[in-house]
Amino acid sequence: MAEDERALPPQGVVVLGATGSIGASTLDVIARHPQRYRVAALTAHGRVDELVALCLAHRPQLAVIGEAQREAQLRERLQAAGVACRVASGAAGLLEAAQWPDARVVVAAIVGAAGLMPAIAAARAGKRLLLANKEAIVCAGTLLLEAVRSGGAELLPVDSEHNAIHQCLAGAAGRNGLRRLILTASGGPFRQRHDFAGITPEQACAHPNWRMGQKISVDSATLMNKGLEVIEASWLFDVPRTQIDVVVHPQSVIHSMVEFGDGSVLAQLGTPDMRTPIAYSLGFPQRIDSGSARLDFLTLKDLSFEAPDLQRFPCLGLAYQALAAGPAASILLNAANEVAVAAFLARALAFADIAAVIAQVLDGTHPAAPDSVDAVLEIDALGRRRAHQALAGRSA
Ligand code: NAD
Ligand code: MG
Repeated sequence: MAEDERALPPQGVVVLGATGSIGASTLDVIARHPQRYRVAALTAHGRVDELVALCLAHRPQLAVIGEAQREAQLRERLQAAGVACRVASGAAGLLEAAQWPDARVVVAAIVGAAGLMPAIAAARAGKRLLLANKEAIVCAGTLLLEAVRSGGAELLPVDSEHNAIHQCLAGAAGRNGLRRLILTASGGPFRQRHDFAGITPEQACAHPNWRMGQKISVDSATLMNKGLEVIEASWLFDVPRTQIDVVVHPQSVIHSMVEFGDGSVLAQLGTPDMRTPIAYSLGFPQRIDSGSARLDFLTLKDLSFEAPDLQRFPCLGLAYQALAAGPAASILLNAANEVAVAAFLARALAFADIAAVIAQVLDGTHPAAPDSVDAVLEIDALGRRRAHQALAGRSA
């Protein structure tokens, strides 16, 4: 760190979804740099005890619990633990955290469309937005990017593939002669499995390379995660779907690539550890220590590649189809997927039927492209209603 930087006060960081997997990785990186960063606000959905433990360790100015009925309990526990901070709850609390005046950085690490409003609020408030919550940009690409522009915010992708592409493009000039983006996919736990009957949530959540929240773990197992990432990449880098390819790379060492017209391909490599893209996004354009293990080329076995199997993993094809069909289709796709994955996790839907439910929802008519956040939420609600109808009549 340069001498003059050391003199600056640490930057306030808000972590939306602090009790999750990305939240934990973010807090780990922040704790490595107490002179650069301090935790300004932490939010969680319903886990009061975990949130209190994080508040005790990181001493935020604001603690928010999404489930409003737990606010009193949170207040009590914080007091008992000797943590003096402001307490808030519900949608208003999440928005307060996202716009916290004393913070420069907001990490959007809530899972699902539930993270959309706070992500947009942080963008409008001109924060540096570290976007992990891919569902937000899948549902509201135009509106989120417009909020970033109008708010004078800065968006840095935390999703490892998009973070890799951001690194390979190295700014606007890096797009010169861009031919295609190549997103790598691990292939998930069922890459080599052919019979999907009887797959349990435990099996689906046992990802070979990454430890993540349950929803994204199931998405990785169906390849919907890659589908959402294709849509995310299209918005973030303004690249049409015809220039976004997916290649299965089981080792998860190459996090994604960019190919240029002269035949050059740039890749970003590293051990599979989300602290790397988080540290890149926090520090950008500086490089800061992330705590991740170094890549040892001499102990790496293979780097192998194969085409994704769209027959066994139809969710990836459905996402390309939704991207082609326009913004409302992406919202329907995401909503149907959230409902179907929740049903699978609750053992009320078979793994192979996740794609069937989504396909059924996309088969219905598509509303016009949304021109407001309210319109996005309406289409999201429509997708959820249709998905629940599709669920009725199916069982695990
Ligand atoms: P997780 O399930 O571990 O954590 C989710 C967090 O969001 C928790 O803190 C939870 O309390 C909060 N939350 C959940 N529902 C909420 C609601 N309705 N309102 C408010 N808060 C709510 O998930 P994760 O694996 O950390 O993933 C978070 C986001 O980051 C997802 O969008 C995921 O796709 C994305 N992402 C995750 C990884 C990873 O390695 N885990 C990698 C890339 C992208
Ligand atoms: Mg990813």
